Amino acid sequence: MLENTDRTELSTLGEFGLIKHLTQFVEIKNESTLKGIGDDAAVIDYKGKQMVVSTDMLVEGVHFDLAYMPLKHLGYKAISVNVSDIYAMNAMPKQVTISLAISSRFSVEAMEELYAGMMLACAKHKVDIVGGDTTSSKSGLVISITAIGEADADKIVYRSTAKEGDLLCVTGDLGAAYVGLQLLEREKQIFLESPGVQPDLEGNDYIIERQLKPEARKDIPVLLEKLEVKPTAMIDVSDGLASEILHLCTDSDTGCNLYEEKIPIDPSAYNTAREFNLDPTVCALNGGEDYELLFTIDQADFPKIKANPDITVIGHMTNKKDGVNLITKGGTQHPLTAQGWDALLKKPE
Ligand code: ADP
Ligand code: MG
Repeated sequence: MLENTDRTELSTLGEFGLIKHLTQFVEIKNESTLKGIGDDAAVIDYKGKQMVVSTDMLVEGVHFDLAYMPLKHLGYKAISVNVSDIYAMNAMPKQVTISLAISSRFSVEAMEELYAGMMLACAKHKVDIVGGDTTSSKSGLVISITAIGEADADKIVYRSTAKEGDLLCVTGDLGAAYVGLQLLEREKQIFLESPGVQPDLEGNDYIIERQLKPEARKDIPVLLEKLEVKPTAMIDVSDGLASEILHLCTDSDTGCNLYEEKIPIDPSAYNTAREFNLDPTVCALNGGEDYELLFTIDQADFPKIKANPDITVIGHMTNKKDGVNLITKGGTQHPLTAQGWDALLKKPE
């Protein structure tokens, strides 16, 4: 890394110099990576396995705000959200390409921070950086990442194959990333109004971390394999539980009953949501960015997962004609809709 903590302009390195500088510590970890950075294209050999590919773009001002998102966290998150899509196919990520559009507002040191976060996430997920593209941007920072993974053909799980009667399961807990975002937004506003005031994030480590440093569930495909459970359908929770359930139902041609009382919500997320006058259930349904895995299993597999604290059964798939419903704690039934963030603005009763 450059010793100087002062600002080094991107122009001192130039495009090729910057690529070389940022990728100097990239090491190949996977046998399947035959050629990584340095030629016109990377070469990958999965030896008869199937390859899964997914791309995501993160745009400054749309997907992230550098006022509260440190660049290292942004790098970490950018990789995590991409490999999460690969895990959602019940596959293992092996390679990524990283494309950046950078404005001159950013220094070489800033890009080093971004890359440090990316390298950390790549190490955690045992993923090789095998290429990318680097260009300039007239406005903000744009990060586009393509993740490539492998799976045996019979292991890949699609969104479209859930069946009536299957149990709907989710990993971890939901809503915390959205609540964390509310907290960060509030502290940013306070800072903008009185710059001397330090952010008050005490005691909220978990929900802040869920927003700034999401962890893709690498452990879940491994666990399911160990338990000898192949989900009938799977998707990752990036846009909120409601939206993902609707995707599963639409693509699988089923209905669903989701039980509000079963939705796993962390106590600190629950309490902070209440402080913000938000309904914790609505945060879980519509908040998004949890990067948990939502999947369906055959009822016969229930005994294999029931003792696992990381997996919660939250509902079951029904006939399409019965619709997609939320059964509230009070026992009333409402059609589930993906309202996105609009619903979050409504006050709870
Ligand atoms: P080309 O002109 O063939 O597109 P580039 O000069 O853009 O090649 O890139 C040179 C090499 O560096 C290629 O292997 C490319 O994949 C890689 N690369 C470019 N930008 C990045 C980046 N931000 N991160 C990782 N690798 C990169
Ligand atoms: Mg290029």
